Amino acid sequence: MKTVRQTWLLLTLLHLIPAILFWKMGFPAGFLTLAAVHLTLLGFTLCPRSTPLRPTRRYFSATGRTICLTIDDGPCADTPAFLALLAAHRAKAIFFLIGERAAARPDLVRAILAAGHQIGNHTHTHPEKCFWAYGPAAQRREIETCQEILGQFSARPPIWFRAPAGFGSPFTHPLLRESHLHCLGWTARAFDTRPTPIPVLLARLRPAFRPGAILLVHQGHPVSPALLRALLSELSSEGWTCELPPPAAPY
Ligand SMILES: [Zn+2]
Repeated sequence: MKTVRQTWLLLTLLHLIPAILFWKMGFPAGFLTLAAVHLTLLGFTLCPRSTPLRPTRRYFSATGRTICLTIDDGPCADTPAFLALLAAHRAKAIFFLIGERAAARPDLVRAILAAGHQIGNHTHTHPEKCFWAYGPAAQRREIETCQEILGQFSARPPIWFRAPAGFGSPFTHPLLRESHLHCLGWTARAFDTRPTPIPVLLARLRPAFRPGAILLVHQGHPVSPALLRALLSELSSEGWTCELPPPAAPY
């Protein structure tokens, strides 16, 4: 769907079908169709991968041993350590920043950009449990407020967006179009927000070591710097480089 209005129209039409079946064929047919419509929509909503209602880029085309590293949930206290590790490995990354954290630590945002990394929009308050359930007005507020804050740091506002935990809704894509943003997913993620041994976290990322893959790690957790250190060491030892992606392209 290209606009919020079209999305509302689609959702209305999808609910007309069970209503008509209920009227023509009775309660069981209407109820079962309504349940099928809602389960399908819920599946699209809670799937962090690309769906027809929410196209999401999960890899880039690349020929050499280049990988796109993305780092979520900053800026925070370990950002300087992250920047030092990336510099040591001559690696570039996209930092998906939370708007209110960026407003609180503008020095860290400037340090990220000064080091040649990109920043992406990760919503203003990071409502990871409920962003997907928000209506279009609340989602727009999260996206646009973060975009306004991050846009103050560079003449070129962010072009990439990532929903908290990757969960959006059918309204998310039309809202991103309004803000000229593209949804960036991942090829593999470490699930590194919970205490987990580093070898286990690396094992989750390693199968995605291929040209153009997008890796997702977090910052702000006890394991975060150690994981980044181990990941960059492994990538470097195997000849992989972490580079920024080409400009946003159609899905
Ligand atoms: Zn996040």
